[in-house]
Amino acid sequence: MGLIVQKYGGTSVADTDRIKAVAERAVATANEGNQVIVVVSAMAGETDKFTQYAHEITESPKEREMDMLLSSGERVTSALMAMAITELGIESMSFTGRQVGIKTDSSHTRAMIESIEASRLTIALDEGKIPVVAGFQGINEFSDVTTLGRGGSDTTAVAIAAALEADACEIYTDVEGVYTADPRVVPDARKMDRVSYDEMLEMASLGAKVLHGRSVEFAKKYNVPLVVRSSFNNMPGTLVTKEDGLMENIVVTGLAHDKNQARITLIGVPDKPGIAAAVFKAIGEENINVDMIVQNISVQDSATDISFTVSKSDGKKAFGIAQNVSEKLGTKGVNMNDDVAKVSIIGVGMQSHFGVAAQMFDILSKAGVNIMMISTSEIKISCVIEESKAETAVKVLHKSFNLASV
Ligand code: ADP
Ligand code: MG
Repeated sequence: MGLIVQKYGGTSVADTDRIKAVAERAVATANEGNQVIVVVSAMAGETDKFTQYAHEITESPKEREMDMLLSSGERVTSALMAMAITELGIESMSFTGRQVGIKTDSSHTRAMIESIEASRLTIALDEGKIPVVAGFQGINEFSDVTTLGRGGSDTTAVAIAAALEADACEIYTDVEGVYTADPRVVPDARKMDRVSYDEMLEMASLGAKVLHGRSVEFAKKYNVPLVVRSSFNNMPGTLVTKEDGLMENIVVTGLAHDKNQARITLIGVPDKPGIAAAVFKAIGEENINVDMIVQNISVQDSATDISFTVSKSDGKKAFGIAQNVSEKLGTKGVNMNDDVAKVSIIGVGMQSHFGVAAQMFDILSKAGVNIMMISTSEIKISCVIEESKAETAVKVLHKSFNLASV
């Protein structure tokens, strides 16, 4: 007997038949003697449909209104799921983020969970019910609805599991677990039985959307046993867990790619102190996340170039800011390229193996993929490349690092 949090993603609850199928799984888990909390996403396609509506009305909808709009998708699924579970003979009750006390900061559309006051969940469980929580949402200090960003229902589930010290958090999705690369891009990608929190964190933040990055952070911090598995069959899935000695033996565990990237370059920036600070302060003030930064050393005319990447959706805004700053600083100009992608290789074993970066660059160059920017950490290497080469790059890296057969 344990407490299990089960999260079901959009494809897993795409229509009422899927909702009924998922309800059966939750009920079966309860009938094995467990307490079960279900967290649901919006039905597949709903979030995109709502976003489309908003853009039919305005080019720049207020983020507060977007949160109000998008959070309704999860609310629909939670009510339908509670009905489906009740129909199978176990009492169920749906809850919004607000009703289960999920407090977040005020960054609309990408809010961070600050606390959970889950007493209503505990009461429902004590009454023998299966609570169903609308994922992806919380409220801020003004009781306004906030959302946690794409994939945020994963974080709702893990945060609830952490708050209630659940025995497991199961993320049900449309693939059988975490693969060495996106299985939709690399057909022979291999499903991993286990992956460390740190590797998963890198994979998620570098573009493997199978888990929301914040959910992995929570899982690591509170030691939540996290399992990713399919809602369409009974395969065991992937366990995301603490690193162990065996994992160190594998140099490259997996790779990720992210097409949601834009590169901005300030050309001919005067080479004097304080310039980089001025640029990135202005960008930071607009809450735009800068990912990679490269500044060349000026060789000839005491002017240099500064390039950085942001997510594609922030591209236009960041470009505007860069243009403003650039005029004040007297640079030669600014350009933006949003036909770029980032490919990354990840593995805790890189810490103890040399030459991995060189190998990666060699593989890419032999495949005719030009590298525009590079960034590294102890357990990952990322390259910015042309967007149209992203799939090729992922495939050839996957093959050359022998990921299919490890
Ligand atoms: P859900 O709606 O269930 O949350 P997502 O679409 O958010 O599902 O995440 C699952 C998808 O993540 C898969 O369909 C797959 O295409 C993609 N994906 C990307 N990288 C990976 C990876 N390394 N392992 C598994 N799936 C991945
Ligand atoms: Mg997801």
